[in-house]
Formats: sequence, C-alpha cells, structure tokens
Amino acid sequence: MARSTPTQTYESKRNREKTPEPFDGKRPVKAKPMFVIQKHDASSLHFDLRLEIGGALKSWAVPKGPSLDPRDKRLAIETEDHPIAYGGFEGVIPEGEYGGGTVMIFDIGAMKNVKDASLEDQYENGQIEVELCGERIKGKYALIRTGKKSGDNWLLIKMKDDAADARRKPASVETRSATSGRTMHQIRQDAGDD
Ligand code: MN
Repeated sequence: MARSTPTQTYESKRNREKTPEPFDGKRPVKAKPMFVIQKHDASSLHFDLRLEIGGALKSWAVPKGPSLDPRDKRLAIETEDHPIAYGGFEGVIPEGEYGGGTVMIFDIGAMKNVKDASLEDQYENGQIEVELCGERIKGKYALIRTGKKSGDNWLLIKMKDDAADARRKPASVETRSATSGRTMHQIRQDAGDD
C-alpha cells in the first residue's frame, strides 16, 4: 500500500463526475485529530466510524453503530482510508455508485489519544484507544483488530468511564444529523431523491 497517497484506494473506487462525495477540501472541524461517525443507508444500514490517523480518516463500517455499554463488542469492518474532508460529507451517493445511499453525520468532534504510543503505531499494532469528544458519543473507546493484518475485522468496545451507560442506545434514539439537524429522509429530499 502506497503511504504517500493515503486515499488512493478511495479515489480508485469512485467517479468524481458521478458522486457528490469530496475528494479533497477543507477540514470539517477545527479539532485535530478529529473523529466522525456517519450513518450510511447503503445496501445495508450501518455506521461508518472514521478516526484521523496519519493524515487521513481511517475507516470502519460498524453495522450496529457504537455502543455506550462496555459489555458490547461491536464488529467494525475496516474499509479504505477516506480524505479528511469526507468528515463533513452529508448527502446522497447515487444508486449504482460505490456505497450508493444516504449519508448523515451522526456525530463529529475532537479525538484524544489516551495512550503514550502514537495513533499510527496503535493502528499498526491493531489496538487503538482514544477518547471521543462528540455530542452524542463521548468517552474512551478501544478498537481491537481480531486478525493479524491490516484490513481484517476489528471490535469496537466502550471502555469503562463516566460516559459509559448500559441503558442508553444512541444509534436508535438519535435520528437527526449532528450538524444539520436533518433526518435521513430530509437529506434525500434535499438531494432531490424523494
Ligand atoms: Mn459506509
């Protein structure tokens, strides 16, 4: 994998003429490093967790979304690195294009490294611990790679702290965008798709 162009795979999967997704552009939030969670109604509904590591957004598709309950181990399937500007993307990817479907910003904010090792090293070692400072998703999370090589599946686990809450289910409760306040339906309407 070419390190110099972290989003080469991203670009190869998409056609600039056909998708409104960003290929470059400005940071969506001042915070650095940042995280974003995007709700994505594609062939199956899932949540995309993206963490700013090594100049790009490392990305995982989390079918059930993040949990606030430390007892949950949520499957997180690693996907291609996305450009930083993608964190601000909300809209509709046309049907037939890669990832076709509606994308909503579920939460966005700053991320803190809670370990001494760099985030790059933690990623390479398959064990990342960060604190997410969003509106809905707060506190420490661990991402643990279940296999040996990059691209394998990971588990997303809420670490025990004050933000842990076994009763709240943010993924099913929060139905509006954290940035625009729109529902998935309104995002589709605004794109002229409904
Ligand atoms: Mn997705």
